[in-house]
Amino acid sequence: MAASRTLRIGLIPGDGIGKEVIPAGRRILESLPASLGLKFSFVDLEAGFETFQKTGVALPDRTVETLQKECDGALFGAVSSPTTPTKGYSSPIVALRKKLDLYANVRPVKSVAGTRAFPDPIDLVIVRENTEDLYVKEERTYEQDGDIVAEAIKRITRSASSRIATMAGEIALRRAKIRAVEKSTSTEQQKQAMVTITHKSNVLSQTDGLFRKTCFDTLAQPRFASANLKVEEQIVDSMLYKLFIQPAYYDVVVGPNLYGDLLSDAAAALVASLGLVPSANVGDGFALGEPCHGSAPDIAGLGISNPIATIRSVGLMLEFLGQGEAAARVYQAVDGCLLEGRLLTPDLGGKAGTEEVVGDVVRRL
Ligand code: ATP
Ligand code: MG
Repeated sequence: MAASRTLRIGLIPGDGIGKEVIPAGRRILESLPASLGLKFSFVDLEAGFETFQKTGVALPDRTVETLQKECDGALFGAVSSPTTPTKGYSSPIVALRKKLDLYANVRPVKSVAGTRAFPDPIDLVIVRENTEDLYVKEERTYEQDGDIVAEAIKRITRSASSRIATMAGEIALRRAKIRAVEKSTSTEQQKQAMVTITHKSNVLSQTDGLFRKTCFDTLAQPRFASANLKVEEQIVDSMLYKLFIQPAYYDVVVGPNLYGDLLSDAAAALVASLGLVPSANVGDGFALGEPCHGSAPDIAGLGISNPIATIRSVGLMLEFLGQGEAAARVYQAVDGCLLEGRLLTPDLGGKAGTEEVVGDVVRRL
């Protein structure tokens, strides 16, 4: 990708602390060193529960069309979910993933000294298939022999399984490259690039069986095999167990939609705060960065929300837009801030406000 390119980024703050952390994400992009030769332009877009209350739609057409026609990437804050079912309201992020065909949900979980809930360093990525499995939402309820029966379709395709496996393999190789660069400054032993395929094909031999086989076939291609990518599998229940027993072991974990959903939330619990965990929703040529936390109504407006999940999501978005060097700068600045531990928000036991943390990361850029 040409270095002097201008990337157009859609900004969707949404509700609650989304309005505090998305401006922080924008500031990070604006503060990247000029030597990277990257320029950004921004467009403010609406979505969320507040938008729904104001206009009757949670995801306005303008937001979708602008993202589709004008933008290279986007940052999404958070949306509140109504506590009681609200007629006509459905999650705008789920709709966005569908409309933009963002077929992968990528969630890195990394611990840094000081933010460790576990003694061992955790540095893993959950790669979740985002378009099918039980989430095709084809359910029906009917009566049979005096009973009531509800069913849901679990749909797995070879094409979707293959593209998610490819993405997992690429992420694993990219991470190994970054580790090799960092090796000179670290005494920690190098991890081999590894993808763990998680499934339940011992019970669901056709659906999960297809996912499992397709992942193995895809990752056996010469481009992965010749790069010494290790591929292994783990039944999802024991995967969850081992994730909590020895999280340091894992590198990239790939799973179908439902298991990926469960695993990525569970993995987020391995580090000290939701305010640290980023994610990206990725399609072909488009990436949407999104902190894993919600709108946090309990702290909205207080100026103390942790911006790091969003800042790391900025890094992820850049990574998937082919800007690995810029992404690495962002990650390094965040790690520096966390390692020093001087300016931390209250969720990490500190006293700093959102702005102070952003200022510290910006200085390190
Ligand atoms: P929602 O319905 O939007 O998900 P929620 O009430 O479930 O809202 P979350 O955003 O999911 O709230 O957050 C769960 C808890 O974690 C809250 O106590 C919140 O204050 C805290 N939290 C979440 N994100 C952050 C953050 N960025 N900084 C500090 N604390 C956070
Ligand atoms: Mg929540």
